[in-house]
Amino acid sequence: MTLVEEKENLKSKLKEVFGYSQFRGNQEAIIENILQGKNTFVIMPTGAGKSLCYQLPALITDGLAIVISPLIALMKNQVDQLNAFGINAQFLNSTLSKGEINRVKRDCLDGSIKLLYVAPESLTKEENIAFLQKANVSFVAVDEAHCISEWGHDFRPEYRRIKEIIGLLGNLPIIALTATATPKVQLDIQKNLQMENADVFKSSFNRTNLFYTVKPKKHAKKQLVQFLQVHKGKSGIIYCLSRKKVAEIAELLNVNGFRAAPYHAGLDPAVREKNQDDFLNENLDIVVATIAFGMGIDKPDVRFVVHYDVPKSLEGYYQETGRAGRDGLEGECLMFYSHNDINKLEKFNKDKPVQERDNARILLQEMSYYAESPVCRRRQLLHYFGEEFETENCGGCDNCVHPKERYEAKDFAKIAIEAALVTEERFGLNHLVDVIRGVANQYVNSYNHDKLEVYGKGSEETKDFWKSVVRQSLIYELLQKDIDNIGVLKVSDKGRQFLQTPHSILFAKDHEYVDAGDEEEES
Ligand code: ADP
Ligand code: ZN
Repeated sequence: MTLVEEKENLKSKLKEVFGYSQFRGNQEAIIENILQGKNTFVIMPTGAGKSLCYQLPALITDGLAIVISPLIALMKNQVDQLNAFGINAQFLNSTLSKGEINRVKRDCLDGSIKLLYVAPESLTKEENIAFLQKANVSFVAVDEAHCISEWGHDFRPEYRRIKEIIGLLGNLPIIALTATATPKVQLDIQKNLQMENADVFKSSFNRTNLFYTVKPKKHAKKQLVQFLQVHKGKSGIIYCLSRKKVAEIAELLNVNGFRAAPYHAGLDPAVREKNQDDFLNENLDIVVATIAFGMGIDKPDVRFVVHYDVPKSLEGYYQETGRAGRDGLEGECLMFYSHNDINKLEKFNKDKPVQERDNARILLQEMSYYAESPVCRRRQLLHYFGEEFETENCGGCDNCVHPKERYEAKDFAKIAIEAALVTEERFGLNHLVDVIRGVANQYVNSYNHDKLEVYGKGSEETKDFWKSVVRQSLIYELLQKDIDNIGVLKVSDKGRQFLQTPHSILFAKDHEYVDAGDEEEES
C-alpha cells in the first residue's frame, strides 16, 4: 500500500468503525507510528481522544492488543463502548468468574478478540503471563501511564512491574498514554518502561474553554450554595477530601434542593454504581465525590468542577478540572483555598516514609503557590506542564479578568517576620495574626505575648488581611514551615536578611470582587 492509500485506509476505518470523519490533533500521526511498530508516548489532555490512538491500530494489526488499565470501572466502560461499535474487546480482571476467564482466554487464543483490557494486578499473575505468552500479541498499550510515577497523582506500585512482564511476552512495541505528565513524570514513565527512545506526541494542555477561579475559603458552604444556585440544573462535580465531608456536602445540597448524590470508595458498590449511572444518565445534576470519582468518566457536558477542599497537587487539580467542558463548551473550575486545608493535608502525610512525605510536601507547596499567586492561572498551569503561555489577559481566569490589587508590603512583611521571631518560631498562622492584631485571647495571654512589642502593631488591619500577609510571606519564603511541627512557622534565612535590610516587596490582595453569586445573596 502506498502512503496515500494507507492514510485513506485509516480514515475509512475511522468512519466505518467509530463513525468519525476526522482525526483529532495528533491521533493520525500517533496511529501511524504504532503501525510502524515503534514505541510511542502520548501525552494528551483528558477528553482529547487518547483511546482511539490504540483502539484503531489494534483493529488493523494482526493479533491481540493488550491494554493495561488501572480501574475496573474504566475497563468496563471502554469494553462496553467498543462492543457497541461492533469490536470484539474483553477484559480480564477480578470481577470475572473462572468460567468467564476461561472463555476470554480461549477467545484470545483463537484470535477472535482484538483488544484485551487487563488490570496490572491481573497482568502480573503467573497463570496470566503463561497464557499471554501463548497468544499472538501485537502491542501493549499502557493507559493512565502516570500511575507509574510516584510523582503522579495516583501512583500504583503494580504499574512499576509492567515492563518486566512485557519483557516476558517478547519484544513488543509499547504505547504509553497519559493526560498528566509534567516533565518530571514523563521522565519517570519513560525510564520505567525503558522507552527513552520512544516518539513523544505531546498536545497542548491549554483548555481554552475552562474558566479557573480560586476563592479564599471563608464561609465555604454558603459560598458553594451561592455558586450552585447560579448553575442550577447544570451538570457538575464537587470534590472533597474526605468521605465524611462528601457525605456532609451531599446532604447539604439535598436539603437546599439540588439533585446531588455522594460518591466515594466507602460506599456500598451498588450505591456507588447507581450514583455514577444516575449522573451519566442525567437523573442527577451533581456528584459530590472524593478523587475516587472520575477517572475515565466520559460525560461531555459537565459544566462545573468545584474543589471544595484544596487538592493534593496541581496535577490532580488539572486532571479533575479537566472533566469539565469535554464537549468544548464552557466549563467553570472553582477551588476554595485555605491555609488550614494545606495543614490538614500535611498531617495526612506525616507518617509516610520520608521521601514520600517530602514529595507530597513539594506538591502541596506548588498548590499553595498557585492558589495565592496573582499571575494568570492558565499560564501557571501550563508552565507546570512544561508549556510556556504568554498572555496579557487570557480572559479565562479570575486573575486575568479581575486582576488582584498589589500593594507595597515592606512594613507588613517586617511585622509578620518579627512576630514569628519574637514568639520563638513556635506558633502557626492564626496565633501570629492574633498577636499582630492585639487580640487578647487565652493563648496569647498564657504565653505573655500581649507583653511583646509587636503585640497590636497591626490592629488597624483586618484578620483576613494579616492572614494573607503571613501566607504571602511564606510564598516569598520570608517565612518557612517547620518540617517536624505541622502548622508552625519559622523565619527563613531570607526572612532574617529581610529584617536587617528590608526592601520593597509587592504582595497581592485577595480577590474581593462581587460576582453573580454574591449579588444574588444580597438581593
Ligand atoms: P481521553 O482518553 O483522552 O480522555 P477519550 O479517548 O475518552 O479521551 O475520548 C474523548 C471523547 O472524544 C470520546 O467521546 C471519543 O469518542 C471522542 N473522540 C475521540 N476521537 C475522536 C475523533 N477523531 N472525532 C470525534 N470524536 C472523537
Ligand atoms: Zn488568565
